Amino acid sequence: MAGGGASLAWSRALAQPVFAEYPFQLGVAAGDPAPDGFVIWTRLAPRPLEPGHGMPAAPMAVEWEVASDSAFAQVVRKGEAIARPELGHSVHVEVAGLAPGRPYFYRFAAGRERSGVGRARTTPALGDKVARVRFGVVGCQSYEQGYYTAHRKVAGEELDFVYCYGDYIYEGRGSRLWNSPDGPRENPRQHLGGEIYSLDDYRRRYAQYKMDADLQASHASAAWFSVWDDHEIDNNWAQAIDQDGTDPAVFRLRQQSAMQAFYENTPLRRSAFPGGASMQIYRRARYGDLLDLNLLDTRQFRSDQPCEGRWATTCPGARDAAAQVLGEAQERWLFGALAGSDARWKVLAQQVMVMDLNRDQQGGLGYNLDTWAGYQIPRERLLRHVRDRRIKNVVVLTGDEHQNYAGELHIDGRQPEGPAVATEFVTTSISSSGDGVDQRPDGVRIQSQNPFLKFNNAQRGYAVCDVTPERWQTDFKVLDKVTSRDGTLTTRATWVVPNGETNLVRG
Ligand code: FE
Ligand code: CA
Repeated sequence: MAGGGASLAWSRALAQPVFAEYPFQLGVAAGDPAPDGFVIWTRLAPRPLEPGHGMPAAPMAVEWEVASDSAFAQVVRKGEAIARPELGHSVHVEVAGLAPGRPYFYRFAAGRERSGVGRARTTPALGDKVARVRFGVVGCQSYEQGYYTAHRKVAGEELDFVYCYGDYIYEGRGSRLWNSPDGPRENPRQHLGGEIYSLDDYRRRYAQYKMDADLQASHASAAWFSVWDDHEIDNNWAQAIDQDGTDPAVFRLRQQSAMQAFYENTPLRRSAFPGGASMQIYRRARYGDLLDLNLLDTRQFRSDQPCEGRWATTCPGARDAAAQVLGEAQERWLFGALAGSDARWKVLAQQVMVMDLNRDQQGGLGYNLDTWAGYQIPRERLLRHVRDRRIKNVVVLTGDEHQNYAGELHIDGRQPEGPAVATEFVTTSISSSGDGVDQRPDGVRIQSQNPFLKFNNAQRGYAVCDVTPERWQTDFKVLDKVTSRDGTLTTRATWVVPNGETNLVRG
């Protein structure tokens, strides 16, 4: 090589950061698609599991580009973002100026290193007549209890978008064994370290999860709409209350760390930027004239679980007139969004079950008090609003249960009056609770004593919602096992809601 070339190469090396290890080990992601663009995300983390994630304590430039083809022959937008140490060297670029209703491809570069390629679709133009949408529902992905085979399958679905209902990470300590209802089971992999409290702890937990190649493939395949549930912060938290009696002022410090790490590791828009122990994650997305997606936050503003949150019980507190699930401001916003929507389908994309399932196993009455059934007055307010305003085609999408359920929503499930008000699909976990069974014995009993519950299954997987103006269809896709990597996927059941109806029909 000529001397001039060598010295040019030398000067470029000085001008560019050199990473000892690959800095894009946490993959790429896109989120919150709109008609004109979406967020693209990555984090520089050459040593993801170390404090400081292998990065110098300094800002670093990251180049990004968006193309209309996977070979990047037609780059339509590009720019430079700054990965800042304050934000764990994450970057969130709100890409705008794109065309509606079509796929794009994106990637990042830092120094001489280049990320993998992600794919994301913009949503159709507002008011556009849309003939069909196919999207995925995922969540509850305990790293310890199973492999992310379901995410590998999601990546192959070519979905328009993915809705993640939360429990993206779990806060608990690493454990080789766990006590399942059927006895001790060995986890196929373990969390690093103890229960997580500090920002560094939460960052490392996200890093451990996000190093999974199946999860990265799922993110790279479609843009996600992400909300949290409880385990992004702490089990069954409510406002500033944890379940251990911690001083709320102290718990707020933990929330602040958890919320910052959630923001750093999620493709969210700037509107969700954390401020102290507070984040705005409830929001609305629209998909042409076909559906409105109301993304809800059932943790941050709710009152404490009644009856000390005991499983499958009830008490007068479950009818506390002052209880809140959404909080006043979010509830007012949601009621207005539902009444004012002219979309064919109105979706409540949220976390905890709305069906008031009687879960008592001895012929009595008992609820899961962490769900809407423990908050009966706000639950009735929501369902009465839908009924009394004659709001058609309301579909609730739920997670949290680690089981699949499909059911019809009545104001009082014990005393149904006339047709149901809306329908609910609860999507099982990606991995949490390990290998399942088709239906648990308690699930059989619960189904027999709750006639509005049409379907229950206790395996792992995800749901695909295939929606047209004529009908809503949910496919429950399940794996025979998740404790080894070779699980087989089947569509366990398909349930349909015809346009204008609130009854579930077998597909
Ligand atoms: Fe969960
Ligand atoms: Ca949960």
